[in-house]
Amino acid sequence: MRVLVTGGAGYIGSTAVAILLERGYEVTVLDDCSTGHFESVPSSAKFISGSILDSKALAEALADCAAVIHFAAKSIVGESVEKPDLYHEVNVEGTRRLLDEMARLGVSKLVFSSTAATYGEPEIIPITEESPTVPTSPYGRTKLEVDQMITAESRLGLAAVSLRYFNVAGAFNSKSGWLTERHSPETHLIPNLLRASVANPLKVFGNDWPTADGTCIRDYVHVVDLIDAHILALEKLTASKHEIINLGSGGGYSVTQVIDAAAKVVGSDIPTQISARRSGDPAVLIADISKAKKVLGWIPTRNIKDMVSDTWKSQNASASK
Ligand code: UDP
Repeated sequence: MRVLVTGGAGYIGSTAVAILLERGYEVTVLDDCSTGHFESVPSSAKFISGSILDSKALAEALADCAAVIHFAAKSIVGESVEKPDLYHEVNVEGTRRLLDEMARLGVSKLVFSSTAATYGEPEIIPITEESPTVPTSPYGRTKLEVDQMITAESRLGLAAVSLRYFNVAGAFNSKSGWLTERHSPETHLIPNLLRASVANPLKVFGNDWPTADGTCIRDYVHVVDLIDAHILALEKLTASKHEIINLGSGGGYSVTQVIDAAAKVVGSDIPTQISARRSGDPAVLIADISKAKKVLGWIPTRNIKDMVSDTWKSQNASASK
């Protein structure tokens, strides 16, 4: 089966492409490389350079594909506050065009990269798929709008799963080398703390949160476990059905606990500096992953040490190139 992976040159998308290929799928990638990296796409994938806003590129990319895994999106919360129109255009309008082309060409299977940001500030932890969706950023709002659009499309026959990611971390050692986070600027905790130095310490965004050690708690999930869930979802798609499923590990780590895990991995202290809270950060986000376990038969197997250690190895591998 040939699968179209939109955004297949990005961190999570390229990991999906490499794992799909290793599992025997044929893969087409559609990416405009606005934030992704062409060299992250394995040469055995068919690569189409273009945006999801370009119906012609979409039609070319969908040729011979039986299913789509849709990652292409703008995904920086802070940037979405500054550029809500851009986020609406790419995430909502881009997905509208993808769904229209899929319907026109008879491609009726979709796995969509959604997000915990659709829930906003949770009232109850852990967060289930029934929790209220009150996104606090334009980014979260665009992803929620797409989830709703996909539900409407499923009533016309589309088989779809939206996977709501919590904090994705780690890296994948593919046959052609490490695939890892290379955002610019990098905002995520694990890559940032691994680059921290005495001259440039990791900024800890607040130590006065209502948590045991005062730092924010997040639910980190390894990118390889995350992609395993995508492939299970792909194999379980049912016509006219749209499932929404959380993907996390089902447990939380505070920023301080992640820093401590990282110090053990690298064998030395991580230099830190307590800074002001980052606006928009909730204190605690933890996923209830019972639906993923039940519907997909998925169990994440990699822990926080694996996530830090794989990111560390991948950073060292790219530094030595
Ligand atoms: N964080 C931090 N310093 C950083 C980056 C992140 O203290 O340089 C904290 C952030 O406030 C949050 C957690 O680490 O509590 C995870 O943040 P990240 O940006 O990795 O993911 P997010 O939760 O925003 O999706």
